[in-house]
Amino acid sequence: MNVYDSESIARVLYPMGFEQTSCLEAADIVIVNTCAIRGKAEQKAFSFLGRLADLKRKNPGLIIGVGGCVAQQEGRRILGRMPHLDFVFGTRAIFRLPEIVNRIVKDGERIVDIDMMDNVPEFQFSEAFKDTDVSEISKFVTIMRGCDNYCAYCVVPYVRGSEISRQPKSIIEEIEELVDAGVKEVTLLGQNVNSYGLKEGLCSFSELLAQANDIRGLKRIRFTTSHPKDLSEELIYAVRNLDKLCKHIHLPVQSGSNRILKLMNRKYTREQYLEKTDKLRAACPEIAITSDIIVGFPGERQQDFEDTLDLLKSIRYDSLYAFKYSDRPNATAASLPEKISESEKQSRLEQVLRLQKDITIEKNLVLIDSVQVVLVDGFSKKSRDSEIRQWSGRTATNKIVNFTCNNHNPDPGDGLIGELIQVRIDEVLPNSLCGRMTQTSITAS
Ligand code: SAH
Ligand code: SF4
Repeated sequence: MNVYDSESIARVLYPMGFEQTSCLEAADIVIVNTCAIRGKAEQKAFSFLGRLADLKRKNPGLIIGVGGCVAQQEGRRILGRMPHLDFVFGTRAIFRLPEIVNRIVKDGERIVDIDMMDNVPEFQFSEAFKDTDVSEISKFVTIMRGCDNYCAYCVVPYVRGSEISRQPKSIIEEIEELVDAGVKEVTLLGQNVNSYGLKEGLCSFSELLAQANDIRGLKRIRFTTSHPKDLSEELIYAVRNLDKLCKHIHLPVQSGSNRILKLMNRKYTREQYLEKTDKLRAACPEIAITSDIIVGFPGERQQDFEDTLDLLKSIRYDSLYAFKYSDRPNATAASLPEKISESEKQSRLEQVLRLQKDITIEKNLVLIDSVQVVLVDGFSKKSRDSEIRQWSGRTATNKIVNFTCNNHNPDPGDGLIGELIQVRIDEVLPNSLCGRMTQTSITAS
């Protein structure tokens, strides 16, 4: 989501004559986009902002701004803490940036704009896009902002505001513009895409996916994140039936214990979750299911943790993100008793990661000798320091595949990037698969 927001920040500044640079020292304006999801992300943002003080000393004309969730959360306090910063803008102020920057350039004032405004204007970037060089083949598209779920551990509803969905027409137009610029895959983003449009009475998320599926030239569609409580049968069938929709769902469970799920305010039980994953697999046996887990939520006893390990063993996710619980401002779990010690959280995290690593490898080993359809997105890291050219891409199930060409398929050069091709898998590594190309260019409408 922050990648998309950072791109939006760049896009609103292009018409003012700014362009992006990868050299910090060359910049006239530095904007730091921050994440507040866990304490560690916030600390990282502050330590990076602190390091910019040197840059400002060397170049007093430099303008430094901070945006994103930490900016929304801390507001004016950031300016007090860091005298070298010029402005703070919240998660819903991106489109007011030109005005903010103009005021700073003209009057040199320090500005804080963390107004949440409930009506986020539709964002149309067609003009800005014309000047943008879209070199990636895969892009994110935000379809909704904010969240109304108030999970007990989570800061998002407080820093990103209440849930608002974009108009389907504007989303489809944005995807079409991306496809015209060479993009082959889009990932539709929302904190809970399953509730897309419900509040506003727009089309359902599955209908939106069907519209995207009809876009000529688009090869793949992904989406994230799905809240298990709102996963509908309609979406399960969309995953099965829409040809461009990748057979992958990220369905964060957070915990395998009903007691903890209740304390987390997740609004589903372990049994209901299992029923949904069973349905997904019955409708679409090849689907990859991935998840998020929080270990060490306040009050998580040994038995609760074992319930989580047990759930991981029975679901057998394709991959998993696991996090140590971290207190967040305003989130209700911050005031819960029975906090878990740092060393216990670390130990539980390691146990989860070890278990999942074995499961991921076991699941990937089954793929040896199978032929997978891969969307090529570039060259592998290994290729840079090796004689043998190796490409890289992802399967529909979101597994990374590094591959070479064989004698029957001579090296096609850069032309392979953005193509859907077939690869025979012959090796499994902890985080990727390796193989050889067997067939080029599988056409998609
Ligand atoms: N909207 C998504 C998640 C967004 S946050 C959803 O509902 O699934 C991404 C992940 O960060 C969450 O799934 C959760 O596992 C983790 N997370 C959120 N708040 C956290 C906290 N306070 N401590 C540790 N992990 C947290
Ligand atoms: Fe946070 Fe829960 Fe909303 Fe996800 S659904 S963003 S975890 S409050």
